[in-house]
Amino acid sequence: MIKIFKFGGASVKNADAVRNVAKVIQLFNDNLIVVISAMGKTTNALEKVVESYMAQDGKCFELLNESKEFHFEIMNELFTDKNHKIFEDIHNTFVEIEWEIEDAPTRDFNYVYDQIVSVGELLSTKIVSAYLNSENIITNWIDARDLIQTDNTYRDARIDWELTENCTTKKLIPLFDNEKQSIVITQGFIGSSSELFTTTLGREGSDFSAAILAYCMNAESVTIWKDVPGMLNADPKWFDNTQKLSNISYHEAVELAYYGATVIHPKTIKPLQNKNIPLYVKSFVNPTEEGSIIDQNTAKDAQIPSFIFKMNQVLISIGAKDYSFIMEDHLSHIFGLFAKHNVKINLMQNSAISFSIVADNDNMKIPTLIEELKSNYKVLFNENLELVTIRHYDQKTIDRVTANKTIIVEQKSRNTVRMVMKD
Ligand code: ASP
Ligand code: MG
Repeated sequence: MIKIFKFGGASVKNADAVRNVAKVIQLFNDNLIVVISAMGKTTNALEKVVESYMAQDGKCFELLNESKEFHFEIMNELFTDKNHKIFEDIHNTFVEIEWEIEDAPTRDFNYVYDQIVSVGELLSTKIVSAYLNSENIITNWIDARDLIQTDNTYRDARIDWELTENCTTKKLIPLFDNEKQSIVITQGFIGSSSELFTTTLGREGSDFSAAILAYCMNAESVTIWKDVPGMLNADPKWFDNTQKLSNISYHEAVELAYYGATVIHPKTIKPLQNKNIPLYVKSFVNPTEEGSIIDQNTAKDAQIPSFIFKMNQVLISIGAKDYSFIMEDHLSHIFGLFAKHNVKINLMQNSAISFSIVADNDNMKIPTLIEELKSNYKVLFNENLELVTIRHYDQKTIDRVTANKTIIVEQKSRNTVRMVMKD
């Protein structure tokens, strides 16, 4: 059977981290498909290149060069042989981006974004694969664009499951058709449209890539290697004394992801659940420790409360200009505008004369959305809010997160409480 491993950006952020990936892989004498993200903060860095190129502000080559230096520093540490062909390979990969940004843009932002930002994953997998080979861990580098087939919704591409399953099995099964251990290295996050342009699956999409490949290959399990000991009940960034959720169900994981837990990408669970493939979240620092298991077992779900924080929220209240009720036809128009501006609704609530929505306060999207809403409705908004969701709450957990805050909206169901708060 085949196992899928996924290593995120933090697990390949420098030379030591890459060496550690080799160590983790060596612990397992299994057939592996290893899905890797871009190194460290490379995706953010390449996003800046795209923004600069699209704005034609003259800085994009400089920004690209910083990313190039970052990758060369890592390679210099990993490869003592400076004539190793990886140096030329990575140089050439950067030259391809340079060609892309030489002339003024003719295509839209999302298309350009996918062609350039996707390179982060190509770079990381090439470097890691070459390093593993140099350590006598023999790998097959596979271009994920030959596996993951999508539509052409750039930056948020939808999977063509039938084609992906065909391509994946055709390409990968022969590689595992022998007695010896086989290791495939491929990229997370990226795919190919039917016109053979590169697409991306949305930020943090590498987990989803791992799940897609697991589904298509009927893998035994997926392991996401992280810098935390497993799925935690809160993001340590916002919360002390986090607890590990050692075993939770697919259902619970989907709920947590829906409310905004960032440990695993929300789309990851469904393909795994469909084939009952367990998902392990483990520490790449302590790879022999147990970590978390996400599977069909619901027994332990309610034992530990989980906390999900979303900062920088905006509450938008929408009312009819003549104080009439907000009715279904208004709602469908309002939802249409949210969809058009690509604003995801984190929470909503209605009253007789107004309909309120909480969303991430994205300054690229919210001002234009509010502008357009205002031409039909009375619109009020409140910024700098925090949205907290507690799964399996009790009064003690509510008191803990609401101390010294004003609660503006509160919604309770049997398992979940959600509160919009201000300092
Ligand atoms: N490199 C991409 C990102 O940073 C995909 C991923 O890491 O999952 O969003
Ligand atoms: Mg990541």
